[in-house]
Amino acid sequence: MLLRNVALWPILILISLLPLSAQNAPAPEQPVLDLSSMDKTVDPCVDFFAYSCGGWVKKNPIPPDQSSWSAYGKLQDENLAQLRTILEEAAKPSAQKDAVTQKIGDYYASCMDEAALDKLGFAPLVPELKRIAALPSKDAIAEYLATSLYPTSLYGGGALFTFRSDQDYNDSSQVIAEADQGGLGLPDRDYYLKDDAKSKELRTAYVAHVQKMFELIGDKPETAAAEAATVMRIETELSQSQLTRVDRRDPQKLNHKTSVQDLEKLAPAFRWNVYFSKVGLSTIPSLNVMTPDYFRAMSAAIEKESLSDWKTYLRWHATHDAAPNLSSAFDQETFNFYGKTLRGRQELPPRWKRCTNDVDGDLGEALGQAYVARYFGPEAKLAAVKMVKEIEAEMQNEIQALPWMGTATKEQALAKLHAIANKVGYPDQWRDYDGLKIVHGDEIGNTERAAWFEFHRWLAKIGKPVDRGEWTMTPPTVNAYYDPQKNDINFPAGILQPPLFSAQSDAAPNYGNTGGTMGHELTHAFDDEGSQFDDKGNLRNWWTEADRKAFEQRAQCVVDQYSGFTIIDDIKINGKLTNGEDLADLGGTLLAYLAWQEDTKNQKLDAIDDLTPEQRFFIGYGQSWCASTRDEEKRLRATVDPHSPDKFRANGVVSNLPEFREAFHCKAGQPMVRESVCRVW
Ligand SMILES: [Zn+2]
Repeated sequence: MLLRNVALWPILILISLLPLSAQNAPAPEQPVLDLSSMDKTVDPCVDFFAYSCGGWVKKNPIPPDQSSWSAYGKLQDENLAQLRTILEEAAKPSAQKDAVTQKIGDYYASCMDEAALDKLGFAPLVPELKRIAALPSKDAIAEYLATSLYPTSLYGGGALFTFRSDQDYNDSSQVIAEADQGGLGLPDRDYYLKDDAKSKELRTAYVAHVQKMFELIGDKPETAAAEAATVMRIETELSQSQLTRVDRRDPQKLNHKTSVQDLEKLAPAFRWNVYFSKVGLSTIPSLNVMTPDYFRAMSAAIEKESLSDWKTYLRWHATHDAAPNLSSAFDQETFNFYGKTLRGRQELPPRWKRCTNDVDGDLGEALGQAYVARYFGPEAKLAAVKMVKEIEAEMQNEIQALPWMGTATKEQALAKLHAIANKVGYPDQWRDYDGLKIVHGDEIGNTERAAWFEFHRWLAKIGKPVDRGEWTMTPPTVNAYYDPQKNDINFPAGILQPPLFSAQSDAAPNYGNTGGTMGHELTHAFDDEGSQFDDKGNLRNWWTEADRKAFEQRAQCVVDQYSGFTIIDDIKINGKLTNGEDLADLGGTLLAYLAWQEDTKNQKLDAIDDLTPEQRFFIGYGQSWCASTRDEEKRLRATVDPHSPDKFRANGVVSNLPEFREAFHCKAGQPMVRESVCRVW
């Protein structure tokens, strides 16, 4: 939810008379319920995922440049191809260049000119490496981070820590500065700390990769090997005091408003006053220090390690951050570890995909304007809003009828439900990129300026009222999210398309697929994490003690259920990590089912292709999870992804629903029929 992961949630609609895309509708349209994606030799009561998706898995091998492949992944790939068309037109020297076209066109062209980047080698990084080499003392690290090539990362990665702004947990109308743990090159603290054979193997591979990157910037192999060991030692030290992903699902553990003076006492080895003043925040009185233990330990590590070893650490992060914008040797070596070893990809994605993603990342709402104008019609927006409202009406009925919740808590829950804002398609107000200079042929300069432009955009919000119209996903994204601090649901245009929803389909699979997604996002407002925020997005307990206990007992049923599923080898789902998503899947599917029944209550629904309307609803849901995943990617997600594997998102939900059992005439004792079902919302 708050942090959007590798996930996928679709969204959308229903009304049937109108095409979803105004122009350039994809043809031929793919059906939402695809019979050829099923495997009817499987009993749906034994393995519903295999029944719904067996055919899909056979006919959709994972492409060599992907670590997994799914209905969403395919759609994202198709959206990328549409963006590529826009960018190639914008990049033509003859193109009509308004300000937006100039920026996206020149950015893309600079990124695509691989020959020019190869000629430069790592020359664009040399000034940065010289700056690091010249640091006179550990006190100078703060000024360096505040003025380095790329800003201290907004999103994790980067050196030492993450710095940005966020809504105040205690007063969601205000924006404050926020510092968080960071500074690791591997995807999670667990990679440094776990002792199993696979984790050790990955650490060895990581150190070898860091060594190769040092060699690529000209260090001798023995020197590079020693430097890689230093990086590993420092990052391991930093990882030890980091909060786990499960702990981070509890917002109370991340809420520590701290004065700048107290931060200086907490982490005295870092020159905070210099850092704040250099990033333009010399007057902030306080900030949220999300992970105080981490900053205490970071300060101790600064004291303990030598200046020369810190320089090694900073050189590694500078090289790693710049790698995508240097010659292809850097790109390839980075792919070898992060793409191949860590995720099982076989081939580097073609350059146009990477450059298109970069434009989407750095100029997302400029590219998004062009995308929406060409591929997204207003009728899709209307249809989406209609379906969301139907699902919200079902949530209201559910809350009112809940047997385990008292009246006082119900009032608060309804107030929260009624306050949710539904955002569909794209922002009402596009972001302004006027202050960002994009220069044809200056790849590293463009990415550097774009990163700082974004960093300063975040910092400029501090002390100002929250802009509730903002989005954190770009319009072409095939995903959706609920934001508990804004109390809003966001469905980008990119997800409002076949085969997730089709105007030509009967309603049942549309509701099973995209309706399920809408219900999913809505249920996030009331999952283990979202339910701790009130109607205004403040972190405030609005539950009576007894009701909260009743909720937690029901949520625990889902934790226990999913903790029993095996992902790969002997790795089981961490049911605490995935609880919010699993609750959202379960509640969301039920809400979509009820909304579909309500929507079609006066219609006579017939079987189609020998499948009853109820069966078609559930197959629509099952096929939203058709996917294959490489083993390496499964292991990665087991550690970092709060979503359960696709197969269990299908089977885990339906085995809890009596409506499913009835639809397929399943019998007690069959795998898709749990003896004691979980039910929360
Ligand atoms: Zn979710």
